[in-house]
Amino acid sequence: MTDRGNRSLRERDAAVIAGIEKLHFNPLAARRGAGSYLIDDDGRRILDLSASATAASLGYGHPAVVEAVTEAVRDMAGASLLLYPNEAATALAEALLDATPGTGERRVWFGHSGSDASDATARVVEAATGRHRFISFIGSYHGCLAGAMSISGHTSMTHTLPRPGLVLLPYPDPYRPQFTAEAVLALLDYQFETTCPPEQVAAIFIEPIMSDGGLIVPPAGFLRALEQRCRAHGILVIVDEVKVGLGRSGLLHAFQHEGLAPDLVIFGKGIGGGLPLSAIVGPADVLDFKPAFAMQTTAGNPIATAAGGAVLRTIVAEDLVARAERLGAAFADGLRSLAENHEMIGDVRGRGLAIGVDLVADRETRAPVPAKTTAKVIYRAYELGASFIYVGLAANVLEITPPLTLGKDEMADGLGIIDQALADVAKGLVPDAAVQEFMNW
Ligand SMILES: *Cc1c(COP(=O)(O)O)cnc(C)c1O
Repeated sequence: MTDRGNRSLRERDAAVIAGIEKLHFNPLAARRGAGSYLIDDDGRRILDLSASATAASLGYGHPAVVEAVTEAVRDMAGASLLLYPNEAATALAEALLDATPGTGERRVWFGHSGSDASDATARVVEAATGRHRFISFIGSYHGCLAGAMSISGHTSMTHTLPRPGLVLLPYPDPYRPQFTAEAVLALLDYQFETTCPPEQVAAIFIEPIMSDGGLIVPPAGFLRALEQRCRAHGILVIVDEVKVGLGRSGLLHAFQHEGLAPDLVIFGKGIGGGLPLSAIVGPADVLDFKPAFAMQTTAGNPIATAAGGAVLRTIVAEDLVARAERLGAAFADGLRSLAENHEMIGDVRGRGLAIGVDLVADRETRAPVPAKTTAKVIYRAYELGASFIYVGLAANVLEITPPLTLGKDEMADGLGIIDQALADVAKGLVPDAAVQEFMNW
């Protein structure tokens, strides 16, 4: 056996965990978690302003999740929802239906990840509608399984071809209005008139806030207009709430900011509070289309769904939706104040506790900073005690998505660290070599 004796967790990880499943933005190696903090391999407490890409929606070790999971794991009631109903999954499905606006007979499907939920959605919608084409957005990320990748438009997915017939639209960005809402709608109309007859289109996949594509809040009214266009042609509207859903945006569902009435809603990441769990809520005639169509043995297992139930109950019990709105507004205000001292901050945007800080090389032209500069801000912030990630097709947007349970003092600490990190990077204190291995997205 190899001697693994004195090596750090980071070194051992590098030796055994596949690179194709990594997206490291800093050297943090999590020994433990506690509330809004991760404890690094060397014992340092690091404020997690990303909440593990929103998976840790209630932070680390929230008592409600611990209790629910501990209880569920004691007997594991059936273990497979495929073969036997279990109470936790049924109760969570009931709660999700109650919490998600919609009409008609609806059902809930459970999976393990945003990726499998997007994948299953595309497959079942195609089969149930008998239509084979989809619309999605350049910059959108719906997951990393074959079907999910094939309807994604993120530049990190160019290793995999889009599915035949996919129409990728630009996502209008109010800060860099290369394509206005009107222009995108006109482009879709033109597609419908020419090479993409609308009756061939099964559904449109929408991120209500484009997250991995740059934390972009669409111009008011755009998504509504899009929804109307699609509805007129019987095209199903699918909203991907995986990253920004369940309270983070300051409303329970991010699509509610836009007044959308989606046919199908996809949940992931934060719904499991750190456990692998995803869900689709949608029409019975789609999700009941055929048995044995989107099965996974341990999906909907009683442990993950118990965690999901605890997350939903805690969102209500701790009033986390209103809290996300309040704290998010304060956080964004704080970041806007920082912009007075940091030329690099071009734009601060978002909803609730989904905040993007757009870093620019020039405020006039709004040209993004080089990816290396973004990576240095993240690296320096890590050295100073906070962890977060970057998004955007130009890799220039800091994504701030802390646990919904973040404390006010923790927010203030986070702002202080971001302030210092921006100053230190502007002064050239972070060498290129420090970030070489953290530019992979
Ligand atoms: C992360 C993400 C996914 C994929 O979720 P995984 O849990 O990583 O499989 C899908 N859609 C959106 C919007 C996401 O942010």
